[in-house]
Amino acid sequence: MCLFCKIAAKQIPAKILFEDEDVVAFHDINPGAPTHVLVIPKEHVVSIAEAKPEHAALLGKLMLATQRAAEMTGVTASGFRVVANTGAHAGQSVFHLHFHVIPRYHGKDLGIHAADPADQAALAAHAARIRAAL
Ligand code: 5GP
Ligand code: ZN
Repeated sequence: MCLFCKIAAKQIPAKILFEDEDVVAFHDINPGAPTHVLVIPKEHVVSIAEAKPEHAALLGKLMLATQRAAEMTGVTASGFRVVANTGAHAGQSVFHLHFHVIPRYHGKDLGIHAADPADQAALAAHAARIRAAL
């Protein structure tokens, strides 16, 4: 059983914010912000990349659970980000689907975007390569 399956099954303790029959929201053990919450499905799904059409309703419930987590931790008005690192190269370290709910504090760059605008010609060439591959 994976780490987050064990948290969902209460075999490992976690600071649970709320749960229902399908999802659990709990505090990250190594928070990047005072209210860093993780929202997971109770079912073991590895990542967004591994989700199947039959998970559509579950994915919707997870999104609404991120909304509830933001409300319960008081960050809705100030703003927050929902992040799902997908794959080891993108920073995923626990291979059970989870959405980070991270507050976005005014004036603080959380580093999702680069500091400088992209080279427009390079972006256009990249877009052309993607269109050609479709
Ligand atoms: P990832 O790096 O996969 O996007 O996120 C995994 C997150 O899980 C990390 O932010 C990490 O701090 C958190 N985490 C890892 N192990 C535990 C644990 O045992 N309990 C809790 N509550 N969070 C954990
Ligand atoms: Zn799992």
